[in-house]
Amino acid sequence: MMISEYGNKKLTEEKVFKDPVHRYIHVRDQVIWDLIKTKEFQRLRRIRQLGTLYLAFHSAEHSRFNHSLGVYEIVRRMVVNFREFEEWDNEDRLLVLCAALLHDLGHGPFSHCFETIFNTDHEEFTRKIILGNTEVNAVLKKVGVDFPLEVAQVIDKTHENKLVISMISSQIDADRMDYLQRDSYYTGVSYGNFDMERILRVMRPSKDEVIIKDSGMHAVEDYLMSRYQMYWQIYFHPVSRGGEVLLNLALRRAKYLHEEGYVFKQAPKYFIPFFDGTLTVHDYLRLDEMVVNFYLQEWIHEDDEVLSDLSHRFVNRDLFKYLPFDGSIITITEIEELFRKGGVDPEYYFFSDSYSDLPYDYDRPGSKSNRRPIHLQKRNGELKEISSQSAIIHSITGMHRMDSKLYYPKEKILQIKDPEVKGQIINLLNELA
Ligand code: ZN
Repeated sequence: MMISEYGNKKLTEEKVFKDPVHRYIHVRDQVIWDLIKTKEFQRLRRIRQLGTLYLAFHSAEHSRFNHSLGVYEIVRRMVVNFREFEEWDNEDRLLVLCAALLHDLGHGPFSHCFETIFNTDHEEFTRKIILGNTEVNAVLKKVGVDFPLEVAQVIDKTHENKLVISMISSQIDADRMDYLQRDSYYTGVSYGNFDMERILRVMRPSKDEVIIKDSGMHAVEDYLMSRYQMYWQIYFHPVSRGGEVLLNLALRRAKYLHEEGYVFKQAPKYFIPFFDGTLTVHDYLRLDEMVVNFYLQEWIHEDDEVLSDLSHRFVNRDLFKYLPFDGSIITITEIEELFRKGGVDPEYYFFSDSYSDLPYDYDRPGSKSNRRPIHLQKRNGELKEISSQSAIIHSITGMHRMDSKLYYPKEKILQIKDPEVKGQIINLLNELA
């Protein structure tokens, strides 16, 4: 495919964004500049990168806008480096830059919990926004009629150019390299630090993937460890998950009330397409975290006690207590039954939550996952899967770690009238702790 004159157009002067992680983000292409200006991309300013994690780490308020520019910048630098090893035509260059910039375009507010409640999928919406009747689509179409589709295919990993896909999504890609450093910077922890400069210097383009020069192995070890630690110390933080739990329950209640015909003081206008499952791209784009927060603040004043209480708790960070749970002494259904006996509705005042992570793995014959290994290139040109070369990486390869927690409001338990049920629940919670 040929790209239009517009696709090759450069800005008369380079634009730079000051960035605390990469220092500067450089924009020379007119297309990139025009994409940043679209309303769908600007919306990412109103979606936090880490959802409710600011409830645990108060500075973690950075947005998907920050992160998207960061991923773009890393990919831009990869292309500059790769051009020393092989030819890159401007079409592939522009394709990977646009895909990097737009890879998270479809994220909704408080992504993970929204997706579970409303059954939406940010990847599907990224595709719909790129291909639909949007400002982003209009910009991409000026590069070439098929260009929006190509960008969407790179993001959903169906494009025929596997090298370009692996730059944005693989086990060592620009997306992860940006979010680990950025999230570590904004939470104030040091776990996410690794030597990206070194990694960029040892990355080499090959036909199907980005490979790592043998001498870069230790830098990759550091990167994988940093990812492992960030997951358990930051991303799965139980307090942040506690925020998601409240949001989840408040929205579950609002949806229930809407279905029951309850008359809201502040009708959930922007949520109705989500509740009713009639969602269009434009409905989806209208809901950002500002809007969600607005409703939760308003719902504090609703007559429905449950909605009012859950909204109040979310807005004012009055979180549920949490306990570890492994299912060995009692089942979830039995706990729910006990709560019900005590007059505490487990539908809204109890939540069990599980997370798991696999820090590094690769496909073995017969496995169902789709993980491509990280390959090291030896001096003689031979490729070796990295865990066969590094004892540290070998030790975490295929290691699945899971964590489950129970969430409940302590004071509701203490208010239970029946002393026998109350005693039973308190004993149980002590035993679980
Ligand atoms: Zn991302």
